[in-house]
Amino acid sequence: MPELPEVETVRSGLALLLADRPILCRVQLMRADLRAPIPASLARRLRGQPIIAVRRRAKYLLFETPAATLLCHLGMTGTWRLAPSGDERIHDHCYLHFFDGRRLAYRDPRRFGLLDLIEPGRAEEHPALAGLGPEPLDARAFTGAVLAERCAGRKVAIKPLIMDQRVVVGVGNIYAAEALFRAGIRPSCFSGRVSRPRLDALVAAIRAVLLEAIAAGGSTISDFRQAGGDSGYFQTRFQVYDRAGQPCVRCGAKLRGAVLGGRSTVWCSRCQR
Ligand SMILES: [Zn+2]
Repeated sequence: MPELPEVETVRSGLALLLADRPILCRVQLMRADLRAPIPASLARRLRGQPIIAVRRRAKYLLFETPAATLLCHLGMTGTWRLAPSGDERIHDHCYLHFFDGRRLAYRDPRRFGLLDLIEPGRAEEHPALAGLGPEPLDARAFTGAVLAERCAGRKVAIKPLIMDQRVVVGVGNIYAAEALFRAGIRPSCFSGRVSRPRLDALVAAIRAVLLEAIAAGGSTISDFRQAGGDSGYFQTRFQVYDRAGQPCVRCGAKLRGAVLGGRSTVWCSRCQR
């Protein structure tokens, strides 16, 4: 499943492709639903509209036009690509045709993705986006103080807490494990027991691992494709994720593995307290 860095990579690729604000001449839907029905009015509402921005909120892409915003979640296998005439593929579910002759294709073999419409300026009211926590890369919205507020008195372990989208968005299993290792915090530590300086370090570590993944172009856990059709790539080696039983890169101790909050978790019992 694409995580935040992959979605951000897709967003920046699309934003670059659509920087000249091309005008949609036709939205061609090849089916009526993905994980949920696609609004019947989607094609009509977007026709004739320029794409004025491509934004991201959590793992959702927002194609903004003056009339409405096209909301897209990539689900497990969703991809966008520039698809010239003749490049039609099985599992292409939506084509955006532009007046300049270009065409974007949304392809999603497993169809866990989502295409929906949002009224202008109403994004935060959409059921998928309402109640989401701050963006981890927003240094003003996501701080040690904000995280401390969410942790206060909580007996839930810190790893599931930072993976809770109401606390902070877009920190998936891989990035949670890596950030906790860097911050030296044991994943099972009660959230309310983590001191403020350690929470500051955790916020910085979350931001750093996500930024490194974005810089590397996202990871290749699934069959994710970047906008434009190139394979995603993530050259940074994970320090703990998927490395249970192997030596800690810092101290050499054998990394521990367990299931925590329903997710596989790896940590170093010497480096993480
Ligand atoms: Zn260690």
